[in-house]
Amino acid sequence: MTGDARKTCRELADGVLAEHADAVDSDARFPKEALSALRAHGLLAAAAPVERGGLGVDVPALAGMAAALSRGCGATAMIWAMHQVQLACLLAGEQALRAGEQALPSGEQALPSGEQAPELRDAVTRVVRDQLLIASATSEAGIGGALRTSSCAVERAGAGARLDKRATTVSYGVEADALLVSARRGPGSPPSDQVAVLADSARTRLEVLGGWNPLGMRGTCSPALRVRAEFEEWRILPVPFGDLVARVMTPLSHVLWSGVWYGLAAEAADRAVRHARARGEAAGPPSASLAEMRWRLAGLEAQLDAAARDTQDVMSGAAEPTVAFTLRVNALKLAMSQVAVDVALAAMRACGMAGYSEDGPFSVARLLRDLLSAPLMINNERLVAISSQLALVARER
Ligand SMILES: Cc1cc2nc3c(=O)[nH]c(=O)nc-3n(C[C@H](O)[C@H](O)[C@H](O)COP(=O)(O)OP(=O)(O)OC[C@H]3O[C@@H](n4cnc5c(N)ncnc54)[C@H](O)[C@@H]3O)c2cc1C
Repeated sequence: MTGDARKTCRELADGVLAEHADAVDSDARFPKEALSALRAHGLLAAAAPVERGGLGVDVPALAGMAAALSRGCGATAMIWAMHQVQLACLLAGEQALRAGEQALPSGEQALPSGEQAPELRDAVTRVVRDQLLIASATSEAGIGGALRTSSCAVERAGAGARLDKRATTVSYGVEADALLVSARRGPGSPPSDQVAVLADSARTRLEVLGGWNPLGMRGTCSPALRVRAEFEEWRILPVPFGDLVARVMTPLSHVLWSGVWYGLAAEAADRAVRHARARGEAAGPPSASLAEMRWRLAGLEAQLDAAARDTQDVMSGAAEPTVAFTLRVNALKLAMSQVAVDVALAAMRACGMAGYSEDGPFSVARLLRDLLSAPLMINNERLVAISSQLALVARER
């Protein structure tokens, strides 16, 4: 199944994704044709186990799928990757529910048992079965990308609850069937006492707060949104938010985003090689950057594969999310988001004006513009600051 899924991704990338990528980019519009095709092949449920109706693809293979998709359309691949992370978070939350959640830090309120809250399991079943699209709203005005801090809070309202969040960047939020929103547990909770809420779009009012005219990843359609959601208590995931972030949200995001960026850089390098072939031997020896791109990509590929395997172990419960693990997945994100840009720049230099052009078979313009979002998705400066602190307390080998 895993090999088939990657092959399907390659075929879709060469077909429907590539066909619409330029229009999606120039119009900054949602890639609806590509998402329909992904859905038709069951790919939105890739990360869900087979017994739940998904494809049961493990993390290294998911990273390979992200890389394959991004060769056709970076925005589509990023939407797919972000959705897989939300799906994995839902599945982890539901698993905690079934396990009766052992890992509650002292002081946190009791969580419902599986017997008391079958609604969450039913909701996750629907997400997988109907391949519903899930967006993420963790960013927040005044907080930026500080994932472990929220300003907005869950408020009890009658028999249910509600929240009101001003998120700075929400990809495909308007198109999504549901949003996973981070918030403080309650109005009296400190900023780091957070929960994740599965907000159904049908009971959520979205107000677009700004425009969306960025340099790249334009098809992700990620403007600032005011999110006003009303929901039942069971939609608050019964897993400590810190655990969810450490075990699933951060490592899987870094690995799958890195898969997307790796695919974009590899595509740029391939275009540079094809350009050199087209010029022919009469034009002189090929640019030295062709070799440089290859060794840079080989290093990135090895780092991606290692981090993906580590993440699979942590998500399956075979390993703990240690400080060293967090440092490794942060290192992947930092390295990939910087070196992939270097590779695309080298490809552009090798292709010359044909690479600089927005059109033509050797253009690397859109690939490069998409890649320039990589250092901002959880800002590298913020991540460097976090990793420097962690390095002080990590165990030395
Ligand atoms: C294409 C794309 C799609 C996205 N999709 C989503 C989405 O679907 N949902 C979502 O919630 N978010 C999304 N984001 C938001 C993203 O992941 C970040 O959370 C957000 O970009 C952070 O915004 P910021 O860089 O302006 O804020 P900050 O992270 O606050 O950074 C602002 C500035 O402060 C600096 N800074 C902050 N903290 C530190 C520190 N500790 N040390 C040193 N410098 C620091 C940064 O370097 C930066 O210069 C998306 C972003 C992009 C580019």
